[in-house]
Amino acid sequence: MPIRLNNVSFTYSQGTPFERHALRNVDLSIADGEFVGIIGQTGSGKSTLVQMFNGLIKPTSGSVIVNDILTTAKGVKLKPLREQVGLVFQFAEYQLFAETVAADIAFGPQNQGLSPEEVCRRVDQALVTVGLPVEIKDRSPFELSGGQMRRVAVAGVLAMNPKVFILDEPTAGLDPQGRDDILSQIAKLHKERGITVILVSHSMEDVARLVDRVIVIHEGELKYDGRPADVFRHGAELKSMGLGVPQATEVLQQLRSRGWNVPEVALTVEEAKTAILLALRDRGYKG
Ligand code: ADP
Ligand code: MG
Repeated sequence: MPIRLNNVSFTYSQGTPFERHALRNVDLSIADGEFVGIIGQTGSGKSTLVQMFNGLIKPTSGSVIVNDILTTAKGVKLKPLREQVGLVFQFAEYQLFAETVAADIAFGPQNQGLSPEEVCRRVDQALVTVGLPVEIKDRSPFELSGGQMRRVAVAGVLAMNPKVFILDEPTAGLDPQGRDDILSQIAKLHKERGITVILVSHSMEDVARLVDRVIVIHEGELKYDGRPADVFRHGAELKSMGLGVPQATEVLQQLRSRGWNVPEVALTVEEAKTAILLALRDRGYKG
């Protein structure tokens, strides 16, 4: 399910006093199996952008083509697209509605016309994937903790077996444990099933550690699109956009400004440590 955006702009409430330009001239393509991170300040257009990917929002100008389907074409059927491009909304737990966890997760696959047995299998599998015990099935989603509710929402989208899996700030508001759990499950899913994963995040650490490609959005425009090691080199520019770089990179960039011979970017603490030890050796430190 390759995704291609050509010169996409989007304006909310066009022609009214509330008009808001959310995206401007965005060009972008995402190939099968990529793991892409999208970062940008609040209000930069990330959520608007990802809703283009499954046709929920259509461009005001420009075109969006998903798997050869032009989302703005007349009479185009978007239901198959929405099943194959699964989107977990920001604060998705607010959209839980059914009486039981199982019924909530089953909603999507049921609408796909699968047999009850297959639906049941999908529900169980999705629960395991998000790390929830199968016993939770008969509970009300509203009795669960925030982190558990978030996982139920993630499971509901996964149960449709999407080919592209989009998560809009899936860790926002979770404690560090819940955050790490969800992220490692997402990484595992990408590795094991090879599906395209698109992760909207405001954590530079998470993006640096997980994704193969980072897209930076600022005031509706695509500012950077590249490998994390290349994008995070632009520390000063990212800061001017209200963003940062991973802490490991920050440390190296500070050392460089003091004349140390270290690389500009480290994506993990481990990488920074290795670089600093090498530089220390260079400086004749024998520790
Ligand atoms: P992000 O996800 O990066 O926080 P959004 O895509 O939600 O950004 O929003 C981009 C811009 O569009 C913001 O200025 C926001 O206020 C505006 N916006 C978002 N949703 C709506 C809406 N439903 N109606 C009007 N303006 C909106
Ligand atoms: Mg958003």
